[in-house]
Amino acid sequence: MAITRNVKCPNCGVFNKNRDYCKNCNTLISFEKKQEQKVTAYKEEEFKKAKHEIENPNLAERLKKHPLWLYRVVGWVLYSAYLLVSAIGALIAWFIAMVAAG
Ligand SMILES: [Zn+2]
Repeated sequence: MAITRNVKCPNCGVFNKNRDYCKNCNTLISFEKKQEQKVTAYKEEEFKKAKHEIENPNLAERLKKHPLWLYRVVGWVLYSAYLLVSAIGALIAWFIAMVAAG
C-alpha cells in the first residue's frame, strides 16, 4: 500500500503527489531517493579514496609537504627507504634478467 505524499519542491515550490522528481522542474524531491543517492555518492567517494590510496601508496610524498617539520623528516626518511627498496628491487630484477639471459 502506497502512502500518498504531497511533497513541496524545494526548488520551485510546486506540490508533487507521489513523485520522485518534481513535475515542474525535475528536481529530485523524494527523500528516500535522496538518501539513496547520498549513500551511492558516499560509496563512490570511499571507492575513489581507496583507489587513490592503491595508486598512490606513497605516504612519504604527502608527509614531505606536511607543515610540521617533524612529519617532513619522517616523510624524507620514508622516501629514502622507498627509493632504496626500489633501487634494490630494480637491481635484483636486473640481476635476474642477466642471469636468465645467461
Ligand atoms: Zn520543482
